[in-house]
Amino acid sequence: MRKSLLEYNRQELNTLFQELSQPQFRTRQLREWLVDKYCSDFSKMINLPRQLREILSSQYQAYPLEISTIQRSKDKNTIKFAAGTLDNQIIEVVLLKYSYGYSVCLSTQIGCAMGCVFCASARGGLVRNCTANEMLAQVLLAEQLVGGRIGRVVLMGMGEPLLNYDQVVEFLRLCQDQDFGLGLGLRHVTISTCGIVPKIKQLAHERMPVTLALSLHAPNDHIRKKILPVAQNYSLDEVLDACRYFFQKTDRRVSCEYILIKDVNDSRSCAKQLAELLKNEQMHINLIPYNPVDFLDWQAPSRKQIELFADILRKAKLAVTVRRQLGNDIDAACGQLRRREQ
Ligand code: SAH
Repeated sequence: MRKSLLEYNRQELNTLFQELSQPQFRTRQLREWLVDKYCSDFSKMINLPRQLREILSSQYQAYPLEISTIQRSKDKNTIKFAAGTLDNQIIEVVLLKYSYGYSVCLSTQIGCAMGCVFCASARGGLVRNCTANEMLAQVLLAEQLVGGRIGRVVLMGMGEPLLNYDQVVEFLRLCQDQDFGLGLGLRHVTISTCGIVPKIKQLAHERMPVTLALSLHAPNDHIRKKILPVAQNYSLDEVLDACRYFFQKTDRRVSCEYILIKDVNDSRSCAKQLAELLKNEQMHINLIPYNPVDFLDWQAPSRKQIELFADILRKAKLAVTVRRQLGNDIDAACGQLRRREQ
């Protein structure tokens, strides 16, 4: 298995170049190619001596991931790609085009242990955690594909980010790092969680100004327990309390994701309970029409039902957006591409 030079830290690169009898500034040059210029082709790194480029090409891989398939939606606003890891796993990444630029939706784990009943990633359980550098490589490959910088990073692909805590925090540091990383402000990064209470509190203590998105998906514990097994461990009260704590410590509002699934959590009564539950919370609510998964029976409610649900929340003076459905024609819902590839 070849080693990836993106995974080398400064010290390790310095040592490598020393062994190759190269000056220390090669570390900076190489890192600029890999990260600032999102270049993974050693032969194009023209300020490195040709012989060195040849040695690197023959012995190393630039990134720990290589793109294997790319799908583009008909309207060209969604790109989804699958990338193979060094140990032959598949990671999926989704790129969404908005008016402000591209947002990239990353995977933080291969597979997922959470078992949410509506989610394709839950099938097959957790394979392993992604490393911080595999997360970074997902951003860099996305930048290669669109030929420019990514404006927003969301940790909403496969996996539960807060159960891969150390690598996710390391990735956040790489996002922030002006010198060795992306130089991307953490205000442009969102972490989505199904609600791992102690980890939300731990993240609050890092004092990192990321946006936390809570996958709420139900207005009461009864429905939540039916669709999110993690709700057996943490009640809604505890989860909302942890979110309030995060807001206090970071001054960053938590946003709330609510996928609307037909006949499961989309009734008027659910909307009213949700309005009541969140009336004193400083949360923005993102309603997401369920993205059907081919081997599961769940469906999205009708357009009319979605609007009705949103209206009840708006009338209760909650801040609501209905997420437009992107990439339906290319299976951009969690876990789907990886399944197809395997
Ligand atoms: N584990 C984290 C992040 C990954 S999932 C979390 O639970 O938040 C990202 C979001 O997509 C979650 O809100 C998840 O519930 C949602 N999701 C999963 N499958 C979906 C589907 N088929 N349609 C719409 N949203 C889905």
